[in-house]
Amino acid sequence: MRQIIIIGSGPAGYTAAIYAARANLKPLLIASSVEAGGELMNTTDVENFPGFPEGVQGPDLMTKMQEQAERFGTEVVYDDVESVDLSGPVKTVVLGNGDVEQALTVIFATGSAYRKLGLSDEERLSGRGVSWCATCDGFFFKGKEIAVIGGGDSAMEEATFLTRFASKVHVIHRKGELRASKIMQERAFANDKIEFIWNSEVVGISGIDAVDGLILRDTVSGTETGLPVGGVFVAIGNDPRTHLVHKQLDLTPEGTIAVAGRSSLTSQAGVFAAGDVIDSSYRQAITAAGSGCAAALDAEHYLSTLPPALLAQTGDPELTTVN
Ligand code: NDP
Repeated sequence: MRQIIIIGSGPAGYTAAIYAARANLKPLLIASSVEAGGELMNTTDVENFPGFPEGVQGPDLMTKMQEQAERFGTEVVYDDVESVDLSGPVKTVVLGNGDVEQALTVIFATGSAYRKLGLSDEERLSGRGVSWCATCDGFFFKGKEIAVIGGGDSAMEEATFLTRFASKVHVIHRKGELRASKIMQERAFANDKIEFIWNSEVVGISGIDAVDGLILRDTVSGTETGLPVGGVFVAIGNDPRTHLVHKQLDLTPEGTIAVAGRSSLTSQAGVFAAGDVIDSSYRQAITAAGSGCAAALDAEHYLSTLPPALLAQTGDPELTTVN
């Protein structure tokens, strides 16, 4: 049995791992089989993570975080978690390969998943012109006219990045003003390959084998029009990944894992949560990293309150300080 298992490999998961490993808790970090590294793996320039005045590429930042966690003894497994049992003092985590891991504490840093439009043709044409990741798929749209849906920072970032490839990028937003930060808005407004379509929602995606257009509805007049495009990037936000803990942990009305105050303590003793899975407001790499740190400190404090007989089952009863 282990002292700590961390589920998730974004900034929250790796920061928790760095702190837990430095506290000699020998963490096991489960990094996912396909999405290891979290959302920053799909980003290009990260300009607002302190310590990188010239900016840093998202995947490079995640590689450095992983190296730092491994340097202090974190064990990283590339697999998905199939199920968890969080009741009782010993927590059980079942992996996709059938392995069963047990630990006295678990930190959920499972992040969030791309939100979908919910249109019937969205799934059918996924990978055939419908995408959620400009850095992954942008290259395939060289010289094409495409659309980005959304009005937040993600949509601005995707649209700006896609102008490297596309002949024109239509940003379709359901309101008359953007939610994105000023700097991201200004960058998009200044780019003459980006054209905004305001007060419009996408009600249909057309194409037989590949996307050939969108059907837009004006949210003010209700009028429907067609927009011929060769691809569409959906950038309408994310939903916290909580499917593993439904019925085991309390959730907030926003769908995030509920934690006590500013801590990472969930409704189940010995279970902690950090990063986007508990955060519906800030959702930044740096806030996720900070919350991963808090989760490791909370887990270490919890372990120090457990009976020595239970700790002895981990084969490593000595807990050192975190800092
Ligand atoms: P946001 O929740 O900020 O924005 C989502 C956008 O999509 C909103 O404009 C919203 O419209 C629109 N939207 C939501 N649902 C639908 C729908 N069903 N149909 C049409 N439009 C829809 O998500 P983001 O992913 O943009 O950003 C998340 C967080 O990550 C933010 O905190 C952001 O600052 C951060 N981020 C930071 C970056 C950076 O600093 N480099 C880059 C990317 C993200 P409405 O406005 O009407 O609600």
